[in-house]
Amino acid sequence: MADHQRKIALITGGSGGIGAAISRSLACDGFDIWLNYRSNHEAAARVAEAVESVGRRCRLMSFDVTDPQSIAEHLTALLEEQTPYVLVNNAGFSKDALMVWMTQAEWKDVLSVSLDGFFLVTKPILNAMLRKREGRIVNIVSTSGQSGVPGQVNYSAAKAGLIGATKALALEVAKRNVLVNAVSPGFIRTEMTARLPEERILPTIPMGRFGTPEEVASVVSFLCSERAAYITGQIIGVNGGIYM
Ligand code: NDP
Repeated sequence: MADHQRKIALITGGSGGIGAAISRSLACDGFDIWLNYRSNHEAAARVAEAVESVGRRCRLMSFDVTDPQSIAEHLTALLEEQTPYVLVNNAGFSKDALMVWMTQAEWKDVLSVSLDGFFLVTKPILNAMLRKREGRIVNIVSTSGQSGVPGQVNYSAAKAGLIGATKALALEVAKRNVLVNAVSPGFIRTEMTARLPEERILPTIPMGRFGTPEEVASVVSFLCSERAAYITGQIIGVNGGIYM
């Protein structure tokens, strides 16, 4: 296939549980993957192997989504040649504490990965998508940003902010055929939830179980497909019924 015909998806935080599943799923849908992660080179290399095993290319990009200089070093030259059709803003991080104990650093760091990360990565990709008059942006938010969760004032604020940004951007770019949506997972079995007290959480989930990264990835795949051509500005829950 010629380079200009290959469709590309950039996934941030692609070395983690949900990002890895999204990368594998989009590769199966025919996308070449630009896989961003911060530090876990081994996990990223395993995802690249999985992507290549279904016949797609995978470009590894290790940068911090809050670092504008590093983002520019990885993306500026590439974007002069190629434009991703899909951007999934998935990189995220939590640092839980009750507000009375939360430090300003814990507040700032969690907001920065979600919100500065969204702004800094989306801006150069969006400019390229607008020139092509096509694109799909999917932001991974959280039930925590919809309902609020005690111990997560920082994370709930970060994800609620990203929900607002999703809707505002969707309105700005709908006429240019760039669709912007959010997927909002509940409790999903990954590194992020590995140390949570499961026995206390399970009774609060109507479906009685944690979700899998693949169950989130399949919704992202749908939103990036032709079947979702009339969906924009939506927040789609994948949460086993814990928030309605
Ligand atoms: P993981 O902890 O498994 O993975 C997080 C990923 O984000 C890793 O690839 C990590 O890279 C990357 N990352 C973190 N900070 C940065 C940064 N500053 N720059 C670049 N990459 C970064 O998390 P999940 O897969 O569970 O979560 C993925 C997304 O889903 C997050 O946005 C999270 O908030 C959201 N989510 C998760 C839920 C869950 O139950 N698991 C529920 C609701 C939402 P590396 O490890 O290489 O440093």
